[in-house]
Amino acid sequence: MFQLDSHPSGRHFLQIPGPTNVPDRILRAIDQPTIDHRGPEFARLTLEILAGLQDVFRTTGPVVIYPASGTGAWEAALVNTLSPGDRVLMFETGHFATLWRTLAERLGLAVDFVPGDWRSGVDPAVVESRLAEDRAHAFKAVMVVHNETSTGVTTRIPPIREAIDRAAHPALLMVDTISSLASIDYRHDEWGVDVTVAGSQKGLMLPPGLSFNAVGAKALAASRSAKLPRAYWRWDEAIAQNRQGYFPSTPATNLLYGLHEALAMLREEGLPNVFARHARHAEAARRAVRGWGLEILCRNPTEYSGSLTAVLMPDGHDADAFRRTVLAQFDMSLGTGLSRLAGRVFRIGHLGFFNDLMLCGTLCGVEMGLELAGVPHRKNGVGEALEWLRTTAADTTTTAQRHAA
Ligand SMILES: *Cc1c(COP(=O)(O)O)cnc(C)c1O
Repeated sequence: MFQLDSHPSGRHFLQIPGPTNVPDRILRAIDQPTIDHRGPEFARLTLEILAGLQDVFRTTGPVVIYPASGTGAWEAALVNTLSPGDRVLMFETGHFATLWRTLAERLGLAVDFVPGDWRSGVDPAVVESRLAEDRAHAFKAVMVVHNETSTGVTTRIPPIREAIDRAAHPALLMVDTISSLASIDYRHDEWGVDVTVAGSQKGLMLPPGLSFNAVGAKALAASRSAKLPRAYWRWDEAIAQNRQGYFPSTPATNLLYGLHEALAMLREEGLPNVFARHARHAEAARRAVRGWGLEILCRNPTEYSGSLTAVLMPDGHDADAFRRTVLAQFDMSLGTGLSRLAGRVFRIGHLGFFNDLMLCGTLCGVEMGLELAGVPHRKNGVGEALEWLRTTAADTTTTAQRHAA
């Protein structure tokens, strides 16, 4: 077995915003014999998973599963719907939007990249004005990152859809939900999204290795005339074989066992409860940050992320030195600052398989780490978070009754 660095005792705190903590239930589900992916048992597994995925994406359309990281699903969304030289409209919300842009350019798309400050989401007014100016309908797609994992900023999708509709523009709307699906409310059909991109290793609580495209009817129609070269990523063959419960090539069987279990866990908790849990933990984390007298990177409170909180370091203090202290002392991994935010921010992941006391442990580690690393701060971050968690705790009598039943 690969030897992980040994720690004296207890569990590592994996508080990066993906990959997230994988529940034991899912690890056990993965630890089963690999079976014949052309056999009858497998078809049953696939069909149950596809139905469960539709519930999570909130769609009645097809969801295509790739044995790939999220980046593969980014590429799949583009090569299935667009043609060489097509213009697309994108927004510089942060590191992940910038990576998606680079990928689009490498595929030969002409990207109009609206500059951003890495502290705010996509402005629907800009979407509307850019599309309204485009009377020839040169833009073929608008691509938005729902939850920008590098900044902890969540763009609200319905106003983006409304902006596209007000401009009466036919561009496809593609949304990256890699760090929001199953953590922050999301509705593919109701919000009029054409392609939703997602990954396994964040809100879905799985190890890395699977990614997804939820495909709307308009995107499927576009895929029939799209001219970008595509082979492995083709939707049509996957969708056709999925109907019978199979895949065009060998699927990631054991990760699919895990996905089946993850979908069961989400169903048991109920998606509205999952979203409420994330929102409540995110609020606790922000109260802690304010209690430390530090600054939340996200500027606009309506765009606060339920999945993670990015925290600005005081000038002259290196976020990565602080993170190293926390890892060495408390065996906790916090998210690093990405590209232009390197050294300037650290990120607290509070998504996926998570509860109140895991959050408390996380925040205690941050507070003690700030002290040990000599970062100036006030001392009552954890206290503020505990107060919020205590006063918003579910009614304990009903919880106790449920446990007794
Ligand atoms: C993690 C993430 C990605 C990258 O996905 P990979 O699985 O690393 O390829 C893309 N977009 C967002 C918003 C992410 O959080």
